[in-house]
Amino acid sequence: MSEPQLGLVQELSSDVKHRQRMTAEFRKFIDGLKEGKFLATECKSCGKKFMPPRFTCPCGGKDLEWFEVNPEGTLYTWSIVHFAPEGIAKKTNVPYAVGVIEFEDNLLLTGHIKGLTSKPKVGMKVKIEPQELDTGDLAYFIKPA
Ligand SMILES: [Zn+2]
Repeated sequence: MSEPQLGLVQELSSDVKHRQRMTAEFRKFIDGLKEGKFLATECKSCGKKFMPPRFTCPCGGKDLEWFEVNPEGTLYTWSIVHFAPEGIAKKTNVPYAVGVIEFEDNLLLTGHIKGLTSKPKVGMKVKIEPQELDTGDLAYFIKPA
């Protein structure tokens, strides 16, 4: 009976460590944005690049290197959200636009689009900006460049 309990403890602690590392990655990503740097990671084993940055690669590689990407990209696709998922946006904020931006090296990033004066257009130039939420958490949004 003691072995399965030990296994469960190990599984939980590795999950907690993973979440802490994810938070550290995202914090470094947002801190970079505040300094005007747009950061991504690249696996030194297979060369795969990640946006948002990751510390582990599906190939099993754990040696990932930070690099800077041009923060301006083009709108790859977009959609209007009429029913926001709980915890993502307040009901009063709907409808809102979400989009996927394509950056150099074919990196794709999804985010909330703000500052639109007309309907989004695929191919329009956009960039990302850091944002501090009401909760004090750090996030980012997409805006026309
Ligand atoms: Zn890899």
